[in-house]
Amino acid sequence: MASSRPVDRWIVLKFGGTSVSRRHRWNTIGDLAGKRAEEIGGRALVVVSALSGVTNELTAIAEGAADSAARVDALVTRHGAFLEELELGQEVLAERLAALRGLLQDPRAAGRPLDWQAEVLAQGELLSSTLGAAYLRSRGLDVGWMDARHWLQALPPSPNQSAWSQRLSVNCQGQGGEDFGSRFDAQPTRLLVTQGFIARHGDGGTAILGRGGSDTSAAYFGALLGARGVEIWTDVPGMFSANPKDVPDARLLTRLDYYEAQEIATTGAKVLHPRAIKPCRDAGVPMAIRDTGRPDMPGTRIDGSAEPVPGVKAISRRNGIVLVSMEGIGMWQQVGFLADVFALFKQHGLSVDLIGSAETNVTVSLDPSENLVSTDVLAALSADLAQVCKVKVIVPCAAITLVGRGMRSLLYKLSDVWATFGRERVHMISQSSNDLNLTFVIDEADADGLLPILHGELIDSGAMPVYDAQVFGPRWREIIGSVRPRATPWWRAPAARSRLLALAAQGTPAYAYDLATVRERARQLKAVAAIDRYFYAIKANPHPHILRALAEEGFGLECVSQGELERVFAAVPGIDPAQVLFTPSFAPIDEYRAALARGVNLTVDNVELLQHWPEVFRGRALWLRIDLGHGDGHHRKVNTGGKEAKFGLSAQRVEEFLEQARALDIRIGGIHAHLGSGVENSGHWQQMVDELAGFARRIGSVEVLDIGGGLPVPYSDDDEPFDLDAWGRGLAAVKAVHPAFQLAIEPGRFLVAECGVLLAHATQVVEKDGARRVGLDAGMNALLRPALYDAWHDIANLSRLDQACDADVGVVGPICESSDVFAQRVKLPRATAPGDVMLVADAGAYGFSMASTYNLRALPREEVLP
Ligand SMILES: *Cc1c(COP(=O)(O)O)cnc(C)c1O
Repeated sequence: MASSRPVDRWIVLKFGGTSVSRRHRWNTIGDLAGKRAEEIGGRALVVVSALSGVTNELTAIAEGAADSAARVDALVTRHGAFLEELELGQEVLAERLAALRGLLQDPRAAGRPLDWQAEVLAQGELLSSTLGAAYLRSRGLDVGWMDARHWLQALPPSPNQSAWSQRLSVNCQGQGGEDFGSRFDAQPTRLLVTQGFIARHGDGGTAILGRGGSDTSAAYFGALLGARGVEIWTDVPGMFSANPKDVPDARLLTRLDYYEAQEIATTGAKVLHPRAIKPCRDAGVPMAIRDTGRPDMPGTRIDGSAEPVPGVKAISRRNGIVLVSMEGIGMWQQVGFLADVFALFKQHGLSVDLIGSAETNVTVSLDPSENLVSTDVLAALSADLAQVCKVKVIVPCAAITLVGRGMRSLLYKLSDVWATFGRERVHMISQSSNDLNLTFVIDEADADGLLPILHGELIDSGAMPVYDAQVFGPRWREIIGSVRPRATPWWRAPAARSRLLALAAQGTPAYAYDLATVRERARQLKAVAAIDRYFYAIKANPHPHILRALAEEGFGLECVSQGELERVFAAVPGIDPAQVLFTPSFAPIDEYRAALARGVNLTVDNVELLQHWPEVFRGRALWLRIDLGHGDGHHRKVNTGGKEAKFGLSAQRVEEFLEQARALDIRIGGIHAHLGSGVENSGHWQQMVDELAGFARRIGSVEVLDIGGGLPVPYSDDDEPFDLDAWGRGLAAVKAVHPAFQLAIEPGRFLVAECGVLLAHATQVVEKDGARRVGLDAGMNALLRPALYDAWHDIANLSRLDQACDADVGVVGPICESSDVFAQRVKLPRATAPGDVMLVADAGAYGFSMASTYNLRALPREEVLP
């Protein structure tokens, strides 16, 4: 009695075209199916696509291509050759290939009715599944073959369904009858191979599931069987937070709920067809996307049981979007206006994606992947719409979509994203009513290069919670092995740690600087052959020991105030004034006078200085700082180029400056630009050399091009070390074009950030409304960067360095300001307790030099480790 049999456990594995076209891949399929069946203590159903490219051929034949006979011959040859590769006899496919030839002789072939087309299209999967099952059996596996059409039943047509989609893009029954499971269980083998893409039509003939059909077939089978899971095996490791081709930093999404996965699949990701999700969702069957070439990777798991994680999970771009803007006076007052308009879209077979409306305008978007938006169709639609309103078609556009749970509550984190879009012309913004997506429509050309920037901003702003290891996996670049990891920091060495603990015992907060790290960075820079002169921007950290160490390494020193100049001459007594740069900004004129008296290299950056105080500058040799009209950097507040920035002479006023300089007999020996800090794009400096060289030629007397500082350091595991080699190569290349000039640099951060740590004691550990916070005796008064720039610093519990970091905590300071927060989510040992010594890493640059006594808290101590 069938009903008394215990229902077997099933797992469904689907393999696409590239996975079934090679012998070694079939070995993998056999291994994986066997392993999965064993793991669940049950059986595996393998759903396959046609060999790659075959469905395209069959589509051409179904559409009546003139050379159909030749195409069929080629398909016969191809499958015959694959049988040989698999060491199978030709008889395995003899009957199927005869059936394929037979379809061309079929009396229906002349009229190409849809039922005949469906049969033609079905042949690819019938062939691949037959040869695959035979091959796996030849390897000794217990494998059966079955015709999917005996199991998947197309749903009866819905009222608006076209004849075409009733046959060639069907939906299927997702719930089996009473006996579906037991009939299935009655199959004798442990593994079964069947076809994706095809089903039984209500009239007994063949029906096709349409695009993405094999994924959808697997999902239906999973739902009907109440399977343990449906695994879509493909040639990428899963869904990513962005298309890895555009964004190499995109993260693997290791876990999504059905709705997010649906949205990501709909708005961009090609790895899973959006239609495939609903059957599994309805039946509560978990899905996974896995990589056949990397079977050990976790892939993307999609299910309904995960605790929802709010935040942006992915950003995508769709091209070829058509916008139709409809303008009419008082259109909203007209009863039925929208109904009339949308009836016209329906008439032309167009389904609308996004809608935006204003009092006199309605704009809609059409997605080319859902519509046949040919110029003819658009012209016909426009003509009809013109009867009721003024129409404008805007093409080509790109839709950039952010997907994630709780989009509305994330808006406040998206200010950088908004600002980035603000520089483009945004035609339309749409927020989905399910609160899962936010879409911006812009010109396609404007979208180029935007995704990596936006993806970075989403991470930096915390809107994309990449620290959540349940959802976010490795970066694409890590997966393909092109990441250069950060070196282990110096303070993790046991000897350094003991010294730091001893220092902390003498009182915190305290900065500690490792001079060996400073010297190491200095030597790395000095190895860059294209650079002729090196300066250190002392505002990053003017500690006398650091100044002396860098002077010993052959660095000049760059100052921005009289106080810094005095520090330099006090700390490095015999320093040659020519090795000292002074680059003030809006400083009192007396500071310029003092600098000139000392004989240091003075850089000016405006005409007004020369106009107001001609006598100060007459007959002097000066450098000139130019604003090249663009800037960059890790945060808006450190961008020092462009119209908004107070620094540098506008390129428009160079001629005026030179006239004034000539009149005062001033000689310009160097020109300088420094356009931002923490710039990650190494082409930035190359471009600067090129642009500065242009000005230098115009000026004539220039010998040195000073390209500023701004080199970044890797503050988190997400950052890579700056590629000095690539940077040096780029500079050498551009220098070869402008050999007349020496190159100078003046980095601050790069030389000293990693040498410094801030030591503090944990004061209190407090739980509040589900959030756990560790307080430190150092706050924003000691280290301002997190509060000022949202900067990230790694934080470690030095007292418990060997314990696992198993808790997510906020780390805060003792200052009465809500921005007195080092980081919201830091991984620290759960046992972290008051009195523990805590270490804030990479605090050597812009740490102590920006510290204050706010709240009348004392300045931190500073200690130098030789
Ligand atoms: C601050 C500054 C630098 C150093 O910038 P970093 O980003 O720390 O390398 C260099 N030049 C000038 C003029 C500066 O003001």
